[in-house]
Amino acid sequence: MTASYKGSCNCGAVTATFEGEPAWARQCWCRQCQKAAAGGATNNALFSIEGMVLNGEVSWSGYTADSGNTVEQGFCPQCGTPIFGRNSARKGSWVVRLGFLDGDHGIRPTTAIWLDEAPEWAVIDPELEQFRRQTPPPPAS
Ligand SMILES: [Zn+2]
Ligand SMILES: [Zn+2]
Repeated sequence: MTASYKGSCNCGAVTATFEGEPAWARQCWCRQCQKAAAGGATNNALFSIEGMVLNGEVSWSGYTADSGNTVEQGFCPQCGTPIFGRNSARKGSWVVRLGFLDGDHGIRPTTAIWLDEAPEWAVIDPELEQFRRQTPPPPAS
């Protein structure tokens, strides 16, 4: 009984399906995300890439984060829809932008990160667990 999610970009050149539930769903207000998301936060779910089926070409643009890791943002080269984020420190999973997912997927962010970089007009849902920067590292498991 694994859940399945599907997504598409605005022009339909890139589609994908994902198996299983995301490890987490977060909102990120870092400056790079604001640029990717037209001024707001990105809203993201972390999916294992193991069960992912990806159709179409994704363009990647990378930068080195403060942590020293390489962070890459994936988008449709034709319509520019933000699709993925990936981090060199996290090999088996990619972040999927919630706007890419279609239908009534029911995934909603539970956490907001990088509030230090959010614009002053940003309205942060008080229901969300909030962090000024990155979340603390997860407990080893
Ligand atoms: Zn597209
Ligand atoms: Zn971010």
